[in-house]
Amino acid sequence: MQVLLIEDDERIAGPLAEGLARYGYAVERARTGSAALAADEPDMVLLDLGLPDMDGIDVCRALRRRSDVPIIMITARGEEIDRVLGLELGADDYMAKPFGVRELVARIRAVSRRARPGATAGADAPDGAPAGMAEGAAVPGLPARAPGAGGPPPVEAPQAVGPLVIDRRTRQVHLHGTPIALAPKEFDLLVHLAADPGAVCSRREIVDQVWDPHFFGPTKTLDVHVAALRRKLGDPAWIETVRRVGFRLHVPDAVRPSDAVRPSDAVRPPDAVRPSGGAHPAAGA
Ligand code: CA
Repeated sequence: MQVLLIEDDERIAGPLAEGLARYGYAVERARTGSAALAADEPDMVLLDLGLPDMDGIDVCRALRRRSDVPIIMITARGEEIDRVLGLELGADDYMAKPFGVRELVARIRAVSRRARPGATAGADAPDGAPAGMAEGAAVPGLPARAPGAGGPPPVEAPQAVGPLVIDRRTRQVHLHGTPIALAPKEFDLLVHLAADPGAVCSRREIVDQVWDPHFFGPTKTLDVHVAALRRKLGDPAWIETVRRVGFRLHVPDAVRPSDAVRPSDAVRPPDAVRPSGGAHPAAGA
């Protein structure tokens, strides 16, 4: 598979191109938007948003006007992700720095599958990559993400953390019964924090486990994802910052009362209802 990597930053493009080559991808590199648009059409485009000569979004539009080539945007910051998603410009997926080669390969494979829905699983495997390698499975020579690659992962029951329910099997999250749409990395981050609610997870440990021990770029991305998670969970108190250490997940005090609502509350006589000021502390928080 021919991959066109459009990225001006050598510190990112160099290791990425090397890593992709190890998986058998033929990588062609472009450092500017104009060079990218002049290149032969590849099978897959990896497009950085911040290019020296033009906006990556304009490159994406120009590519999309002339072909259906799958495009994965590479973004540096959370604000850029919002831009990519908000513009709906035809990119097939996006990845926020930092990310590892293993994760990128999984994404390339997923996007290829969507782009060619009729293709067989075997045809999806990039040249030189182990055939039948499942997305997210361990890659020889690289650390496996728990659960190990020895067999199918165990089927887990959804985990409840207060009113928050996390289903690892379906990768769905519900809060008070309402589904919450999380980006893949936001989900992974939540799962990591929820593995031991209340326990502090160090920044290094989170980046290693949720991203990749060989991540590219600053760990600022972690903060961006934490901020996004807090926003989506509706209360920043869900994820507590432990200064100079990391983060921990716990049920905010403000949501505990509604969590404690029991069916008996519904049939409680009206005179037993507490004064309105104290009935729903969450409303005033
Ligand atoms: Ca750049």
